[in-house]
Amino acid sequence: MIKKAYVIGSKTSESLSPIIFNYWFEKNNIEGQYSYREITPTNFNEEIEKIFSEKDLCGFNVTIPFKEKIINKLNTIDKHSQEIGAVNCVTKTKNGWLGSNTDWMGFAQPLLKKIKKAKNPIVLGYGGAAKAVLYALKKKGFKNITVFNRTFKKIEHLNDEYVNAAELAKLNKYIDKTDLIINTIPTNILDGLLTKKINKKTIAYDLVYKPKETPFLKYFSSNKIYGIDMLIYQAAPCFKLWFDANPVIDKGLYEILEEKIIK
Ligand code: NAP
Repeated sequence: MIKKAYVIGSKTSESLSPIIFNYWFEKNNIEGQYSYREITPTNFNEEIEKIFSEKDLCGFNVTIPFKEKIINKLNTIDKHSQEIGAVNCVTKTKNGWLGSNTDWMGFAQPLLKKIKKAKNPIVLGYGGAAKAVLYALKKKGFKNITVFNRTFKKIEHLNDEYVNAAELAKLNKYIDKTDLIINTIPTNILDGLLTKKINKKTIAYDLVYKPKETPFLKYFSSNKIYGIDMLIYQAAPCFKLWFDANPVIDKGLYEILEEKIIK
């Protein structure tokens, strides 16, 4: 019996997840198949029903734009998904379909290898991915976080003892006071004028992973964390949940992926 898994959502044919899972199947001698399913808001309900009825399916990843919408199709979700409000990993269990969020730990693991504390961390953007980022930062004890978003009304409610919401247009007032800047905006919004003010020691983490050296990361000479790290680290716990085997994160895996995202 071939054990199956999917990534579902929009533009999933471009996803690198099949490469990651196929690498791990081979390393663990698992007869597995991880493929993509392109789903649109119009056929979402119908496609989910079909997926749920597949016999050999162990689980599936959910990507843009269904990480929130999938929740009410599931039997239960873990506490991280509840707090973040999004699910990226769905597992078939004896008690039905379980939703988990592994994005937050996929983000946190590469970060914590580099830095455990930061002065005035900055998060650029507040879409689905940034919610997991903010959850991870708070959970891991980062304080004085400033979140910037083009649409300010989406972040107004975030102000609390750890988080300050600010307009993207005011980034220049904050950028010289941070030593960690995290980008979750698909298009680079930095420019030479802004980056001139950044402290040389500031760590830059871009969630965008294609190309590897994104236009955002190009402004930083060292101290970078690449989006591909998060992609790998969010996939690892899904593999463990679905196939009960330990995925290796090694040079070989990075080499295959980097070949795909070099440009
Ligand atoms: P999303 O929900 O669509 O959010 C996009 C965010 O970017 C919003 O805050 C949006 O602001 C902002 N934005 C978009 N275009 C902008 C522009 N031209 N100027 C200023 N702000 C702009 O997307 P997401 O799910 O958070 O994903 C964000 C990125 O992270 C994507 O590139 C995705 O591939 C990547 N990602 C990577 C990983 C990984 O494992 N490495 C995991 C998840 C996501 P408004 O609110 O104003 O529209």
